[in-house]
Amino acid sequence: DVADIGVTGMAVMGSNLARNLARNGFKVAIHNRSVGKTEKVIADHGSDGEFYPSESMSDFVASLQKPRVAIIMVKAGGPTDAVVDELSSLMEEGDIIVDAGNALFTDTRRREAALREQGLHFVGAGVSGGEEGALNGPSIMPGGTKASYDRLGPMFEKISAEAEDGLPCCTHVGADGAGHFVKMVHNGIEYADMQVISEAYDMMSKALGMEASAIGDVFADWNKGDLESFLIEITAEVLHHTDATSGKPFVDVILDQAAQKGTGAWTVQTALDLGVPVTGIAEATFARSTSGSVPQREAGRRTLSAEAQTLEIADPAQFIDDLQKALYAAKLVSYSQGFDEIAAGAEEYGWDIDLGAMARIWREGCIIRARFLDRITEAYGRDAKLPLLLSDEYFSSEIAKCIPAWRRVVAFAAASGYPVPVFASTLSYYDAVRAERLPAALVQAQRDYFGAHTYQRVDAAGTFHVEWSEDRRETEQD
Ligand code: NDP
Repeated sequence: DVADIGVTGMAVMGSNLARNLARNGFKVAIHNRSVGKTEKVIADHGSDGEFYPSESMSDFVASLQKPRVAIIMVKAGGPTDAVVDELSSLMEEGDIIVDAGNALFTDTRRREAALREQGLHFVGAGVSGGEEGALNGPSIMPGGTKASYDRLGPMFEKISAEAEDGLPCCTHVGADGAGHFVKMVHNGIEYADMQVISEAYDMMSKALGMEASAIGDVFADWNKGDLESFLIEITAEVLHHTDATSGKPFVDVILDQAAQKGTGAWTVQTALDLGVPVTGIAEATFARSTSGSVPQREAGRRTLSAEAQTLEIADPAQFIDDLQKALYAAKLVSYSQGFDEIAAGAEEYGWDIDLGAMARIWREGCIIRARFLDRITEAYGRDAKLPLLLSDEYFSSEIAKCIPAWRRVVAFAAASGYPVPVFASTLSYYDAVRAERLPAALVQAQRDYFGAHTYQRVDAAGTFHVEWSEDRRETEQD
């Protein structure tokens, strides 16, 4: 019982997390269902630090100092349940089980409630940054009890990424499933961010006929300004990459079908349940689905005409500048919508989530790491209960600078027949959320007509209904 912490699940994520802990001076117990992976970690990386390998789960648990801390890093879903069951049967009151996989937050809530009954702490921790992050410093989003964070926090903060100002990219997110909820929305935002970048690329490629490497130059240039981020940086690199087999630009030889592992869809499904419009994330998720709809695309290609206008681009440099602004605006809306979803989740599940801190722990380590996240932290610093991130003084003025360009890009795309689902849907959301009056009045009237769903008036309090099938008299409902 000497190890500070244990990790079970020695696939790429778990072994890298264990190595990160060991490199930071912690004594790390390691275990995997099949022994080979554990042996391989010791053989290849045993010199990273102090490891305590076990072949059985009971030896693994016995090697941990009390109160024990064991991290599970296995396939999400059934495998996680199986490992939680086995591990919890060997643990004692006060011990902590951490699930660092990509669990659905409702599963985490269920597991947390069950383990709480047994006197155990169950912590769902979102870990972002892929395998590289797990090894060198991820962004970590732990949920669970405050008491469990007192024990875990110092270790997690030590192995997490560090932002420029020295702060760790890890903080206690909130009770039970809060950590996995925030990680889920982080991934949803990542989908939107990747899609807006791709829409800008597509317009440069199709409307301006630019070669991949020239577009890569544009992204490299954008990475010096407001858009500076990991995703823009890797986009430039990908676009500059030449395929070794064909000698063509790498991006041009990739099949245009984007896969997904489900966290984008979870973000959208959860947003629908909470009634939060995350149109940017939803369109980005559906854009991947459209790309993979092979029979539909074949049928569409064969039968659907473009009837597009061929518009001249008088000034390509101006057009590229417009694209940058459209990308930035669509990105701001997508982030704003994602933060709305976190706020709504916190409200629904009673989590005390510090929204500014979420942006702070995403500044390094994770896939959406970016300079502008500091601006989000500052916005919530000005008003922790900001009802709409975009309404913050900084963001409302930033987006105002983009609007004419954003409208030009969306109008150009629509007239020319280019799909820009996130550019366009986020602009519609922007116009809806700032509108004095929405056509929802008519929708509500229709609902009252066919379903007696009632309505409220602009000029009087109360709830009303029109007797549509009778004399169309207005009645007040109680
Ligand atoms: P995988 O998701 O591929 O899972 C493989 C691991 O799960 C192996 O250790 C395997 O053990 C174990 N496992 C599978 N089924 C069982 C079972 N029934 N009982 C016990 N162990 C089982 O590994 P990754 O490292 O890619 O990911 C681990 C977790 O991290 C996942 O939840 C993933 O979603 C999440 N994640 C992954 C990221 C990534 O970039 N890959 C990024 C962030 C999170 P065995 O060797 O015996 O088969």
